Amino acid sequence: MSEHTRVLIIGSGPAGLTAAIYAARAQLLPIVIEGEPSSTSDQPGGQLMLTTDVENYPGFPEAITGPELMMKMREQAARFGADLRVEKVHKLDTTVRPFRAWLAGDVEPSVTADAVILATGARSLMLNVPGEERYLSHGLSTCATCDGFFFRGQDIAVVGGGDSALEEALFLTRFASSVTLIHRRDSLRASKIMQERAFAHEKIRFEWNTQVTEVIGADKVMGLKVRDTLSDEERVLLVTGVFVAIGHVPNTTLVTGQVDLHDNGYVRTGMGSFTNIDGLFAAGDVQDHVYRQAVTSAGSGCIAAIDAERWLEAQGI
Ligand code: NAP
Repeated sequence: MSEHTRVLIIGSGPAGLTAAIYAARAQLLPIVIEGEPSSTSDQPGGQLMLTTDVENYPGFPEAITGPELMMKMREQAARFGADLRVEKVHKLDTTVRPFRAWLAGDVEPSVTADAVILATGARSLMLNVPGEERYLSHGLSTCATCDGFFFRGQDIAVVGGGDSALEEALFLTRFASSVTLIHRRDSLRASKIMQERAFAHEKIRFEWNTQVTEVIGADKVMGLKVRDTLSDEERVLLVTGVFVAIGHVPNTTLVTGQVDLHDNGYVRTGMGSFTNIDGLFAAGDVQDHVYRQAVTSAGSGCIAAIDAERWLEAQGI
C-alpha cells in the first residue's frame, strides 16, 4: 500500500531543503527523500556536504562550512514539519496521476504524490582516463573536504581551472606540502578573487596547457601522465594524490525520457520552476547550468515550493 503526499521533494541540497521549508510552512506536509550517503556524489545535503567554507551565502559574514549550512537548513525544514527521509527514489513515474515513486527495494510504488519537486542536483565530472577508476579512493578523489586530511605532507595535484578546482587547491594547502594545479588552458575560469588567492599562495604552482592522460601507481597513486596541449609532449608528474575538480553533470536519471532536457542534459524549466510536465517542478543544479550557487539553488527551491503550492490550489487538489 503506497502512502500519499501532496508534495514529494526529491533531493536535500539547498534547493530541496528550501523547497521543504516553504512547502512545510504552507502546511503541505511534504515528504523529502534526501538520498543516501552511499557515494560522494549524492550524499544527503548535496554538493555542499563536500565543500569547506562557504563565504558567499548571505547572512554568514564569517563564513560557514557547507555541512553546517546544510544541517541548519535541514533542522529548519524539520521544525516546520517536513518529513525528511534518508532514502533514495529508484524510479519515478510522471505519466500517471498521482505521480508514483519507488523507494529502495519496493516492488509496488512506495509514495504517490500530487506534485513533485525534483531537486536531485548534479555530480562530479570525471576525466575518463586510464587509471582514474582504479585509483578512486586510493589516492584519487573528487572531494578535498572528505579526503584532504589523508594527504598530509604530500605533493598532490588538482585538475581543473574553475572555482571548484581553486577552492580544492586552497583547502588542500592546509595538508599537502605542495599542490600542483593542472589546467588544460592558459587562463583560469575561476572568479578573480579565487584566482588572486591561488596565485598568491606559496604552496600552489600551476601547470598550464596540460591535460592528464593517465593516472599511474601501484597500490596507490604515484603520478600522472600528462600531455602538453601545445607541444604534444608527454611527461610524468610525480604526485601521490590527485583531486579531480572539472565540473558537474545533472542527476536526471529519474526523469530521463519523461521530461524535456536541454541539449547539455539539464532539466528544461520555463517560467519559474515549471517543467513541461504539469505538476513536476525542478529546482537547483538539476536545472541550472548557469549560476549553480548555493544561494541561487536555495532561491529556486523557494520558487518551486511556491509554484507547487499555487498549482495545487489551482487544480483544487
Ligand atoms: P566549471 O566552472 O565548469 O569549471 C570546470 C573546469 O574544469 C574548467 O576550467 C574546465 O576547463 C575544466 N575541465 C572540464 N572538463 C575537463 C576535462 N575533461 N579535462 C580537463 N579539464 C576539464 O566547474 P566548477 O569549478 O565546478 O564550478 C561550477 C560552478 O559553481 C561555477 O559557476 C562556479 O563559479 C561555482 N562555484 C563557486 C564556488 C564559490 O564561489 N566558492 C565554489 C565552487 C564552484 P575550461 O576552463 O578549459 O573549460
